[in-house]
Amino acid sequence: MARYTGPVCRLCRREGEKLFLKGEKCSKQCCPINKRPTAPGQHGTSRKKLSEYGQQLREKQKTKRIYGVLEKQFRMYFEKARTTPGVTGENMLRLLELRLDNAVYRLGYGRSRTEARQIVRHNLITVNGKKVNIPSYQVKVGDVIQIRDKSKTLQRFKDISDVTHSRAVPEWLTADPENLRGTVAMKPLREHITYDLHETLIVELYSK
Ligand code: SF4
Repeated sequence: MARYTGPVCRLCRREGEKLFLKGEKCSKQCCPINKRPTAPGQHGTSRKKLSEYGQQLREKQKTKRIYGVLEKQFRMYFEKARTTPGVTGENMLRLLELRLDNAVYRLGYGRSRTEARQIVRHNLITVNGKKVNIPSYQVKVGDVIQIRDKSKTLQRFKDISDVTHSRAVPEWLTADPENLRGTVAMKPLREHITYDLHETLIVELYSK
């Protein structure tokens, strides 16, 4: 599945907030949002009040960018969420959270979702003992996600751990950092997703 490969800090500046797309740099003073919190481009400093449609669109773009998903796939998550019992917006966020690349990131085995995605793509992950290299793979309750035994000693994972060890792991996952392993303890609940997201705006946008 295609992914965005352009400059990512521009995306944060466009949304006017940190989307944490770069890992270590995001918590440092050199994060461009600290220096230039305006939108990129010639007219970036002149922010107009957004229309209702504009707000809905921005919320969708922000959510897509946080999870690194492009429009077609994002729309598929919405359609699946719509036909699943429960609240559509929450269902959609749950589907995004249950992506394998997101679970690897949430467990702290990637400094950013982009890095977690690359780790999955590079065959460094197993789910229930089987190699899985599909970033959008949906993990289920009880799944055991693990860095492959022969990759555990890579310096890369020590470097990652140095950055992520203080990051909180959400309650829906149980991490075992010693063994670079994690288990899906439960389905993610809305309160486990702590980003400032307004998913109802996205549902309104797609329901027009
Ligand atoms: Fe966004 Fe991170 Fe770049 Fe800051 S450093 S603008 S949070 S991607």
